[in-house]
Amino acid sequence: MNVHVPVRLFTGRDCVRSGGAELRSLGRKALIVTGKTGAKRSGALADVTAALEGSGVGYAVFDAVGENPTVECCRRGGAAAREAAAEFVIGVGGGSALDAAKVVALMAADAAMDESKLYSGAWEFPPKPIALVGTTAGTGSEVTNVSVLTDSMGRKHSVHADGLYASLSFGDAKYTFSLPERITKNTAVDAFSHCLESYLSKKADGVSRTDALEGMQLLLPGLRRLAEDPFRPDEALRESLYTGSLLGGLAISITGTTFPHNVGYYLTERFAVPHGAACAAFLPALLRHCEKAAPALLRELTGQLQTSAEELTILFEVLTPLPEIAMTEAEIRAALPRWEKNGSVRNSPGTVTAEMIGTILRERFLREGA
Ligand code: NAP
Ligand code: FE
Repeated sequence: MNVHVPVRLFTGRDCVRSGGAELRSLGRKALIVTGKTGAKRSGALADVTAALEGSGVGYAVFDAVGENPTVECCRRGGAAAREAAAEFVIGVGGGSALDAAKVVALMAADAAMDESKLYSGAWEFPPKPIALVGTTAGTGSEVTNVSVLTDSMGRKHSVHADGLYASLSFGDAKYTFSLPERITKNTAVDAFSHCLESYLSKKADGVSRTDALEGMQLLLPGLRRLAEDPFRPDEALRESLYTGSLLGGLAISITGTTFPHNVGYYLTERFAVPHGAACAAFLPALLRHCEKAAPALLRELTGQLQTSAEELTILFEVLTPLPEIAMTEAEIRAALPRWEKNGSVRNSPGTVTAEMIGTILRERFLREGA
């Protein structure tokens, strides 16, 4: 085993409001990195600013993070941090804001950081300390060393580095109560996808499988309830989805993801499919592949969860329906090289090749004359 997840994680009701002293330990001035709506609507931003004010920490707010954040946005955030003389960065929001905050902390420390250095990992200076407050129950970014950013060519890549672990993370499910139905479903399926992909990954070990399994045991009853009409999540459901998302984050911190995540990035880039739905589009193919490549492991998992590949496939389709998507043969062929030397593809169970991904894309999305 090789487990290193050095995040100090506080969970529970009002953990942010009581976390002022912890935040103060990271510095005297913070840059809050966030999006336009989630942090405000959820009440998370108000709790963070109250905690900072109560403990004498100054702050500035950079609220320009959009969905699928770009490297350029992080560069602007880094400049804002230097201008504000921020000693640390606090990300507040969903995975987009948290991922952006991690790289803003890096860009704050190194004004000369550019896209090529960022993705090559050739970092001269470590990121400023990072604190995170999550408002979606999905990515688990609160506890991962990953930031998924869109580059200047419009491609999504993940940056992995131990320097991107937060020093402090605060997980309070109350911030997820304001999530609308569509985002709740997409993010819940993303969290399940992390657990499922991690459990089936070649890199899985005893610790990651324990986290992933416990995550799925919390998330699966939640997915079943979310699939019912009408949409009426109660606090207990929100709590289990949020805890499940953190467990998924812990699991992928050890294993990373498998091919559905990476192929999902392509659907997001090309067709603006939200992240959870984009990954879920390929989970049925992962399950079918496992029926041949890892049948005993899949049987063990579905037995422990008291489910079946068929039930999971229906849940993914019901919870995360896709828009109409049409791809041409030329387009599919042009995309294949990106999966030839990809870590997530390599860590998939058995053998998965770029050609196999081409077949999956054709079966689902190829349209004559598209
Ligand atoms: P998101 O893109 O952070 O947020 C989706 C939408 O929900 C945004 O419009 C956001 O508004 C809004 N929102 C957030 N919290 C809310 C709340 N409590 N109430 C109401 N609205 C709220 O979605 P996400 O699924 O959490 O993150 C997806 C990103 O994370 C993708 O880029 C994906 O690739 C990445 N990801 C990262 C990891 C990792 O380990 N780091 C893992 C998986 C995925 P505002 O933006 O206006 O606030
Ligand atoms: Fe994800």
